[in-house]
Amino acid sequence: MAARASGETTVTSVSILRPPLRTGDWDLRVRAIPLDFDWVLLVIDDLSEENRVAAVRRDFIANVSHELKTPVGAVALLSEALVAARDDPKAVSHFAEKMQIETERLSNLIQDVIDLGRLQGEDPLENARVVPLPEIADSAVEFVRGAADAKNITLALSAAPDSDVFGERDQIETAMRNVLANAIAYSSPHTQVAISVRPNGAIVEITVRDQGIGIPETELDRIFERFYRVDAARSRVTGGTGLGLSIVRNVCRNHGGDVQVWSAPGEGSTFTLQLPRYQKSSQDNSSSIEEKP
Ligand code: ADP
Repeated sequence: MAARASGETTVTSVSILRPPLRTGDWDLRVRAIPLDFDWVLLVIDDLSEENRVAAVRRDFIANVSHELKTPVGAVALLSEALVAARDDPKAVSHFAEKMQIETERLSNLIQDVIDLGRLQGEDPLENARVVPLPEIADSAVEFVRGAADAKNITLALSAAPDSDVFGERDQIETAMRNVLANAIAYSSPHTQVAISVRPNGAIVEITVRDQGIGIPETELDRIFERFYRVDAARSRVTGGTGLGLSIVRNVCRNHGGDVQVWSAPGEGSTFTLQLPRYQKSSQDNSSSIEEKP
């Protein structure tokens, strides 16, 4: 009406409840362009997805800033304490050790944010190639061996051949490391963490089973969210960032797979990463794929 009366293009934003369930908003931008003979052209753009992505990004930046504040604030306070205690060697080493823990947390967080950023980039599988999972599992196990040894946790790996996937080696290894590191961090000393890699039809399953503290059923849906921790105080002790499992889920989904969890408090947890299996067909000239840079 306004466009017709004024003869000028008008732009309005409208938010309506999304049919048919009327849950969630549908953000529309409506442009009314007056034409000849009392006709008005309506151009309607759906901005819901754009707005949702912008909100997620805003949220993420707010969360990261908040998470960075804690270790940075602690380092500032500890350095003041260090200066004040310069004549007391015992106190100096005590504060210096605490500073090391805080800087490690800071560097974990920065590394996780970099990993997540890369995973959510334009082309998350830029360097995809055939990846032999048993080899990656071996290397992920070696990466966490020090942490396991420190708690006398036994690592048992079983990997079946024919467990190849087509994807990014580094991403898959990061995902395996994250799940393994959690299994160790949330388990008591003298327990076992078992990792198995085996093909199951068109997919390959990587299963990491621990005998740790477990996760309450009500929390199982939420642990894959960014910055979500079941017990924030405990996670702080383990140096966790709350980003590990969201990285795992992103990696699996980028590869066309997913991640599942089973857990019982006091009994342990089992994380299963499912990735589409790479099967070389007889006509397939896979060397052209493998040689891709
Ligand atoms: P964090 O860096 O805190 O470990 P994650 O995203 O890796 O963050 O995990 C989210 C939360 O899920 C953890 O804080 C922890 O409470 C819970 N969790 C993850 N793995 C396990 C596990 N194997 N056993 C028990 N709890 C776990």
